[in-house]
Amino acid sequence: MRLLLVEDDLQLSQSLSKALKREGFSLQTVSSGREAIVSLEFDPIDIVILDLGLPDMDGLEVLKQIKVKKITCQVLVLTARDQLSDKVKGLDAGADDYLVKPFEYAELSARIRVLERHLSHREQPLLQIGELSLDPSGHVAFLQGKDLELSKKEYMLLKALMESIGRIQTKESLEAKLYDYGEEVMSNSIEVHIHHLRKKIPKGLIKTVRGIGYTIKKGLN
Ligand code: CA
Repeated sequence: MRLLLVEDDLQLSQSLSKALKREGFSLQTVSSGREAIVSLEFDPIDIVILDLGLPDMDGLEVLKQIKVKKITCQVLVLTARDQLSDKVKGLDAGADDYLVKPFEYAELSARIRVLERHLSHREQPLLQIGELSLDPSGHVAFLQGKDLELSKKEYMLLKALMESIGRIQTKESLEAKLYDYGEEVMSNSIEVHIHHLRKKIPKGLIKTVRGIGYTIKKGLN
């Protein structure tokens, strides 16, 4: 499940990000409407948590762009109590749910679970490269039908790579997907996880792009 958090309140964004990652969500955060639209166009996002009061544009404008560009994702709108009428506008504009600020994290988490269930009914496609497959709904990866028994970080790493086959993932973007904000990350930790992951999947599948990051190939040929 890939989440995009669009929130310009840095403190709120950081605390939500930390809590969501702890629950195992793969999460990206942005703080403006423009960045949100770019992320949505280029990355596969399942659920967008969208603040309406953004510095560069109204969150409803982001919502409109999602519909115009026919981006498939669930949208959970965050709105301040004094913008209650926006809430109604948000739902009219195609938001799937809304939450009034301030809210308890547990409430947000519960709403995300509901959206997640909606999505799982649509069934998340299996990610596949030859005989290697990763099932995002089951949080499990297989090689020739056999469970790869990946650690949580190895799984998240493989998922991040397989979600954008053929595209380069920088070391920094992988770190952001694997670790919480503020969490201590050793400078070589991605290399270490890649090293372990490589031993479990077909040789040569993960390619190192020197000085930049990693990419996973479409196949071995
Ligand atoms: Ca705001």
